[in-house]
Amino acid sequence: MPELPEVEIIKRGLEKKIVGQTIDKVEVCLNKLLQGSKELLVDKKIISINRRAKMLIINLSGDISLLIHLKLTGQLIYRSQLAVRSWQKISADSRQLSANQVAGGHPSKDMVGDLPNKFTHAIFYFQDGGVLYFNDLRQFGYIKVYKTEEIANLKVLNDLGLEPYDENATPEYLMKIISRRPNTKIKQIIMDQSVLAGVGNIYADEGLYCAKISPLRAGKDLSKTELERIIKCIRSVMDQSFKYGGSSENTFVNAEGKKGEMQNHFQIYRRMSEKCSCGGVIKRTVVGGRGTYYCPVCQK
Ligand SMILES: [Zn+2]
Repeated sequence: MPELPEVEIIKRGLEKKIVGQTIDKVEVCLNKLLQGSKELLVDKKIISINRRAKMLIINLSGDISLLIHLKLTGQLIYRSQLAVRSWQKISADSRQLSANQVAGGHPSKDMVGDLPNKFTHAIFYFQDGGVLYFNDLRQFGYIKVYKTEEIANLKVLNDLGLEPYDENATPEYLMKIISRRPNTKIKQIIMDQSVLAGVGNIYADEGLYCAKISPLRAGKDLSKTELERIIKCIRSVMDQSFKYGGSSENTFVNAEGKKGEMQNHFQIYRRMSEKCSCGGVIKRTVVGGRGTYYCPVCQK
């Protein structure tokens, strides 16, 4: 599943292409993936795009908003009129690097293939000839149509905790949460979407490695300084991910012709049995049902 950095990168890529565009027509091939009336979207202009945790909110004129979650295998692929018209004539390599396409979500060849395909469930046609496709292999993702004023009251958004970059995401904030479930492992705490929204498995492991904290420790055993280090480290590994265009390990990102390279800079994630820079050997275990990578030597 794409995590905060990858969704933010898709957001930034789409922002450049579709804000200001007017929707001409919407085609829904699988009803459950677009919930609400597609007719409401016709002739509406894209005003802005927001991200909250791993979700996108696209605000349209007429006080309409779309809530989009890619979940495990969702993909959003935008192609300009030029790309739509000439895609078949472009070689596979140039397709990947085409600035006429923005693609994010689950990595697959569909992103550079011909669209629509059998996994395309919704298609947005813009008046200028550009097209936005929503593909989803396993169909856990969704697009929901709301009145903009309803967005503020949605449980799925209100249940989320602070964004890791929120200035209120402090050691004191984490300590308050930990006091309610003192024995929960620190990795589970930071991955809990009601605590830090948008942090998933990759950035939890990388953040804890950067902070030199074992993912297996109970929250109650962590000092304020250690919690502070964790918050700083989550931000710094995410900063790094923005720099490298996100991770294509679980998420192929191709906004503005750039493929995510963060996976080449993972220090710990999926590096089982490799040597840590401290000389220790990286281990894999399971925390809260998720594969967890850590160095038993330098992560205390
Ligand atoms: Zn180490």
